[in-house]
Amino acid sequence: MTAFNTSFEFAHTQDQLDILHPFRERFLFPQHNGVNTVYFCGNSLGLQSSGVKFLMDAELEDWGKYGVEGHFQARSPWFSYHQQFSGPLSRIVGAQPDEVVAMNTLTVNLHLLMMSFYRPQNGRYKIIMEAGAFPSDQYAIDTQARMYGFDPNDAIIEISPREGAHIIEEEDIISAIEAAGTELALVLFGGVNYYTGQLFDMQAITAAAHKAGAYCGFDLAHAVGNVPLSLHDWDVDFACWCSYKYLNSGPGAVAGAFVHERHGNNPETFRLAGWWGNEEKTRFQMKKGFMPAKGAASWQMSNAPVFNMVAHRASLDLFDKATIAALREKSIRLTAYMEFLLREIQHLSFTIITPPDPARRGAQLSLLFDERGREVFEALTENGVIADWREPNVIRIAPVPMYNNFEDCYRFYKILESIQ
Ligand SMILES: *Cc1c(COP(=O)(O)O)cnc(C)c1O
Repeated sequence: MTAFNTSFEFAHTQDQLDILHPFRERFLFPQHNGVNTVYFCGNSLGLQSSGVKFLMDAELEDWGKYGVEGHFQARSPWFSYHQQFSGPLSRIVGAQPDEVVAMNTLTVNLHLLMMSFYRPQNGRYKIIMEAGAFPSDQYAIDTQARMYGFDPNDAIIEISPREGAHIIEEEDIISAIEAAGTELALVLFGGVNYYTGQLFDMQAITAAAHKAGAYCGFDLAHAVGNVPLSLHDWDVDFACWCSYKYLNSGPGAVAGAFVHERHGNNPETFRLAGWWGNEEKTRFQMKKGFMPAKGAASWQMSNAPVFNMVAHRASLDLFDKATIAALREKSIRLTAYMEFLLREIQHLSFTIITPPDPARRGAQLSLLFDERGREVFEALTENGVIADWREPNVIRIAPVPMYNNFEDCYRFYKILESIQ
């Protein structure tokens, strides 16, 4: 591999060598003054692919043509619509097809899975989570603890970075788990922290949680479609994610959940039930007595929100074609190149708080500014960059391997360099 340099020719050549380059053509980029923006916000809302409109039109047509008969007559029958996601999702998160399901939205799934895996008893009631987790996760965990009558300040143990640091030391997570011991009910962490972009060692955290006799779950909002995952082999108990970030499935799109088969295939595992989680054979007998279907699908409550799943389907087709392995390979190089260019910038004062080690991050770099952060962010926007601003002083950029290229990184660098 050639070493990075700051020439345009370098970026251009890298793009020509990139086997994933054709995927970019399939995405719709927002425009600024008639040209594509530098879109580095795929960690917040991924772009639309051209397949979405086609599939959406097909569903509208089938609804018009068949009415209720569409449940069985539609080109992708709505009765079993959700089933087509098991294969592609299982490849993305490293699971058995029965261990994953596309349903609801992320925070809803977090609550539903906590109903199954946070069941305080026998003095086990504590939850370990990261300090500064995404607010929705904080609210969910806080209210789950309250629901069982606990004071969240006592029940929730937050792991923070050490004094003066931005990222959390893995050994601090492990030692907190060991210290909580027999009081620990659940470890619930992000796979990748939304603010710093830190990727956690999910296998090690899971092993430590299990050793302490607790369950372990992950919010994979910023990990899914971004970094390789092996949820089954890591022995994770449960996980959930949204699909509108790296999975490009559109605003508010159907989310996903993973339940390890040892729980999913155990009828004794408690789940809040609805008819769609019932065995398919007896679902329409409309009788008393919930019989859970096999695996994660038994956590479904309602029939599939088809229109909210169409873009997900278009997107997962592209993930199957591109493969996580190839995306990750490009991602490591693309992010390292972006980091190299950022380090060439001398006149602006910022720190990259995302871990420099590729094994501890995905496609995101978080730039912590001293004072002029907001001003720099606005200047970027005026120059056709779509990035993300997080209070108090962070600009997050995400060079997404599915549709961003080396030239985007180069353009970003040139724009940043021009800001005085
Ligand atoms: C994006 C994100 C959410 C958003 O939750 P929704 O229920 O999809 O609105 C929640 N948690 C994390 C960690 C996120 O990154």
